[in-house]
Amino acid sequence: MSARILVVDDVPANVKLLAAKLTREYFDVLTADSGPKAIEIAHQEAPDIILLDVMMPGMDGFEVCRRLKADGRTLHIPIVMVTALSDGSDRVTGLESGADDFLTKPVNDIALFARVRSLVRLKQTMDEWRMRERTSDELGVVGGEESELAESAEHARILVVEESDLQRAKIVQTLQADSATVTSTPSIDDADRLARSEEFDLVVASLMLAEDGGLRLVSRLRCREATRQIPILLVTQEEDIQRVAKGMEIGANDYILKPIDRNELKARARIQIRRKRFQDRLRSNYQRSLSMALTDELTGLFNRHYLGAHLARMIARIAEMRKPVVAIMLDIDHFKSVNDTYGHAVGDQVLKEVAVRVSRNLRNFDMVARFGGEEFIIVMPDSSLEGAVLVAERLRLRIAEEAFAVAAPVRELHVTISLGVAATEDADMTPSLLINDADQALYAAKRKGRNCVVAKGLDTLPPDLLAAAVGG
Ligand code: GH3
Ligand code: MG
Ligand code: MG
Repeated sequence: MSARILVVDDVPANVKLLAAKLTREYFDVLTADSGPKAIEIAHQEAPDIILLDVMMPGMDGFEVCRRLKADGRTLHIPIVMVTALSDGSDRVTGLESGADDFLTKPVNDIALFARVRSLVRLKQTMDEWRMRERTSDELGVVGGEESELAESAEHARILVVEESDLQRAKIVQTLQADSATVTSTPSIDDADRLARSEEFDLVVASLMLAEDGGLRLVSRLRCREATRQIPILLVTQEEDIQRVAKGMEIGANDYILKPIDRNELKARARIQIRRKRFQDRLRSNYQRSLSMALTDELTGLFNRHYLGAHLARMIARIAEMRKPVVAIMLDIDHFKSVNDTYGHAVGDQVLKEVAVRVSRNLRNFDMVARFGGEEFIIVMPDSSLEGAVLVAERLRLRIAEEAFAVAAPVRELHVTISLGVAATEDADMTPSLLINDADQALYAAKRKGRNCVVAKGLDTLPPDLLAAAVGG
């Protein structure tokens, strides 16, 4: 896991030391000796992480951090504040100014690499999501928020796992004071069970649980789908920093050292909660945009866009399967008058009910799409033209035989549809030509008087076929 890291410090010796450590671990290192220089390099080089000194003449680290986080081009770059001060309030100021993490000087190697690796991993995930968001934007479906800083960290649900009653009470109290709903337990089995059965925004776990329980809990949470995304904040002490490194390697997100500084705990918890909520939102935006890009909102059927791709795939299989592909196009009769008489909302109800009845009367591997206003297309693989006519005739009956219940004073509406069927066995066929054939057959059905089926290539529909449809 390599990454480009920008090291910013006004003291050349500090830059040199950090750069040497990072280079030894095969990171690519860039350097800057002042705030303005750091901002310039961040713009030009787009580093993966910035290690930023707090105390610098002119523009201090907090100010640099604020500027980078306020700029759309750089706000996604994780920033680690490097501070010589052991003053807790200073660290918290750093985290609240938008920094993603901090380290204290002299920088401990294990802490450095644990935090850097964890942030690189986070950035890779976020970059992936941002790329997908951009694709969704291009499809014109989702306009997302840009930053986790915009997320609320309030009213989080937090699970605390700590053996010591005293420590547990302190952690719980601190988090509750920050509006969280906290569940706590001294046992990792209990914690594991809770994490699987309830939703949490964060797990705060002591590394000092008996028999390496803290590490076992991290690995259990990470290897299960349901709990893989929950952020984990480890609680430990300086002497145990080796195990922290192990914990971060197997998937913990952050750690805090005892004695716990209440403000630091709050600040670290908030960062993890915001990140999780931001990622949750990106994930659900993405799923929504995917489904919006492929389906029709009113009926839930596939849309025209998906239909084209599906039909192309089916036609491409013709050569291999030597079976025809059939398209049925159907259109509601005199639908305009439904709208004109009862209003658009009733029209929509009719469209939905047609979609339901059609879907219910097809096989699993047949595909229905809403092609346009009140036109639908069904694609059937592994079907003959006659077989498709039979299906079309059955659909016609399913619509015409039973009145539609609607929320209009009339209560019931009689609806009919016309259907056009076309089949091809030609591997050089195109989706639009096949749809065109079905459309011509549909047009013929309309001219014939509506509420009927016409198939391209069959002059009259065999009576035994129609009888079979009634039975089916
Ligand atoms: P024909 O039997 O020849 O098909 O007549 P028709 O009235 O059904 O055909 P036409 O194509 O003239 O009218 C289609 C109507 O469908 C016009 C349009 O207002 C309506 N429509 C299209 N999309 C929607 C929709 O999403 N909801 C509703 N309620 N109406 C729609
Ligand atoms: Mg119509
Ligand atoms: Mg129409």
